[in-house]
Amino acid sequence: MRRARVIIDLAKISHNSRIMVSKCAQAGMIVVGVVKAVSGSPEVATAMLDGGVQWLADSRIENLTRLRQAGLQQTLMLLRTPHLGEVEQVVATADISLNSELATIRALGETACRQGKVHQIVFMVDVGDLREGVMPDDVMPLVHEIALVPGTELVGLGTNVGCYGGLVPTPENTTIICDLAKEIREKIGLDLPYLSGGNTRTSILLDDGGMPPGLHHLRLGEGILLGNYTLDGRKIPGSYQDAFILQAPVIELKTKPSRPQGVIARDAFGQIPAYEDKGLRRRAIVAVGRQDLGAGWLIPLDQGVEILGASSDHLIVDICDAVHDIEVGSILSFRLDYGSLVGLMTSPYVDKVHLLSGIELSP
Ligand SMILES: *Cc1c(COP(=O)(O)O)cnc(C)c1O
Repeated sequence: MRRARVIIDLAKISHNSRIMVSKCAQAGMIVVGVVKAVSGSPEVATAMLDGGVQWLADSRIENLTRLRQAGLQQTLMLLRTPHLGEVEQVVATADISLNSELATIRALGETACRQGKVHQIVFMVDVGDLREGVMPDDVMPLVHEIALVPGTELVGLGTNVGCYGGLVPTPENTTIICDLAKEIREKIGLDLPYLSGGNTRTSILLDDGGMPPGLHHLRLGEGILLGNYTLDGRKIPGSYQDAFILQAPVIELKTKPSRPQGVIARDAFGQIPAYEDKGLRRRAIVAVGRQDLGAGWLIPLDQGVEILGASSDHLIVDICDAVHDIEVGSILSFRLDYGSLVGLMTSPYVDKVHLLSGIELSP
């Protein structure tokens, strides 16, 4: 019996990439493929490149280093503002980084001078999501200073919405960086070729013509990997939602009551669970748990299988209505959400299997 594994269909990832690349191209943008949800997998990155993605990006410098070590030559962008302890590695490995602190930009500049390089900076503007970036009113004075930091080149402005605050991208909040760039070009004469418009959520503006002109790229992870818009779970038309499938073995199969017997207090994660009494039910335990799923969850692919809950290492499923016979040793399959994709791809207890065989299922 094999242990839990994620089957990664690289052809589907290339297909999904092509869809986003052609949507973005219509708005004059390239796609930066974001691989942080897959631990910077070079295989997934290569599948994205096959689908027309031009640059690659990740939040973790370790993952960008992994891509370089795998021989990938493309422009690499670091998404998370570097911390002062990693500037050496950032300058050595990343071509561009997203930044929001002058002190860090100065440290990058000093390091770049020492390494005989010029490090490119995209300055992040917070248009309301309240994660990284300076508030729009503070951009102009800071840009004057950043433009003077030796060893760096200010090549653009960027913005990111939704990841923390859940903010919905609009033409109005997306265009803020375009307006600021116009002002900077006029007043300081900087070129700012790389206006970095946002993540998968922002790509929704492509569908209703609301994407402001003048952006250079979008940074897309989830839209390519899972084929949905993040915002409301809506599917991206023509994309696959099952490029990643978890397969995990059944390790116990019993008929048990559907409510725990006796007094119920907190579970392993501090929650007080509530269970509906459906009488005796046939249930299976699958050998995967919250330790592997991170902040995410699974969607069963076997018809009639319903997830009841999970502890660190056990996933409990109701199989009363399962269409296929399930035995100890059977393998159950699940689709992933963003949280479980991140968790499973990071878990050392879960094997990663790449499928090159082409597309078998229609989207
Ligand atoms: C994670 C991240 C992205 C990609 O987000 P998706 O929702 O996966 O497209 C883009 N930009 C930044 C700054 C990020 O942190």
